[in-house]
Amino acid sequence: MQKRKRVLITGGSGFLGSHLCERYIAEGYEVFCLDNLSTGREENVAHLFRDGNFVFIKYDVTNYLHIAGDLDLILHFASPASPIDYLEMPIQTLKVGSLGTHKALGLAKAKNARFLLASTSEVYGDPLIHPQQEEYWGNVNPIGFRGVYDEAKRFAEAMVMAYHRFHNLDTRIVRIFNTYGPRMRLDDGRALPTFMGQALRGEDITIFGDGLQTRSFCYVDDLVEGIFRLSQSDYTNPVNIGNPAEITILEFANEILKLTGSKSRLAFKELPTDDPKVRQPDITKAKEILGWEPKVGRSEGLQKTYDFFRSRM
Ligand code: NAD
Repeated sequence: MQKRKRVLITGGSGFLGSHLCERYIAEGYEVFCLDNLSTGREENVAHLFRDGNFVFIKYDVTNYLHIAGDLDLILHFASPASPIDYLEMPIQTLKVGSLGTHKALGLAKAKNARFLLASTSEVYGDPLIHPQQEEYWGNVNPIGFRGVYDEAKRFAEAMVMAYHRFHNLDTRIVRIFNTYGPRMRLDDGRALPTFMGQALRGEDITIFGDGLQTRSFCYVDDLVEGIFRLSQSDYTNPVNIGNPAEITILEFANEILKLTGSKSRLAFKELPTDDPKVRQPDITKAKEILGWEPKVGRSEGLQKTYDFFRSRM
């Protein structure tokens, strides 16, 4: 009988990590979910506790890291990810992107495991080219408030490439664009849960700036499919995974008002510093290399996410 493959998912009880745990179990892996529960929740993976192929480890990845036995793959997803979280935890965010990535890479080297880093479209900063393709180096303010997240991820990418080039480690980098779906936190400060929470409570919908800044939202199932395919591919340079359907924040708020049937009104607030004005992934590489493109449209994805939030309120 073929031995079951083993994957370590750091940040495994967060929003994206929990969906990845499910997917890799379904693909026949034994899954080690490592998380310090700083922004993630145990309830995201509680339904997996009875599965014989799931192990939960409460641990901070910035500390010395050891897992007994073989490992085939490490998915490094641990990091605060929403602006509210990383602005509240600036030093932890820098530490997990730097020390945490170093520890996880060291473990991958010791186990001869493949390593996949969850990077972000934020490495492009407030972009000067549009849509963003992987060759673009970005426009990031290193000393701005958001720099703690953006620069941590840029450092993490540099560290991954150094391990790849210097230690011949088998590595992958996914640059994730805004992703949404069930298990997001209503209070995480990202546009979608904020708008949905405000609509459900009948509060004003807060729009930063004039709302004409754009974002592109990808449904979580599509993202997980892209990440799974990248983890099985041979491609070692960064790959954008996101949904290129671009929308202004104002249009997005109106879609949510329509979906929820809420009578909430729009309230405009000052734009936070260094907020990107546009965001849209160029997914040519994902299409050509992974045969991947998003399948879930916004109306379907928003409905599923809304049903999740409503069931929790
Ligand atoms: P999340 O906050 O739900 O998940 C992050 C998880 O990492 C949490 O469970 C948290 O407890 C854990 N964690 C944080 N620091 C840790 C540490 N030191 N040790 C162990 N665990 C730690 O956020 P998410 O949206 O699921 O994001 C997951 C990853 O994907 C992050 O690396 C994020 O930067 C990246 N990403 C997400 C998006 C998105 O749209 N959701 C976009 C770009 C990149």
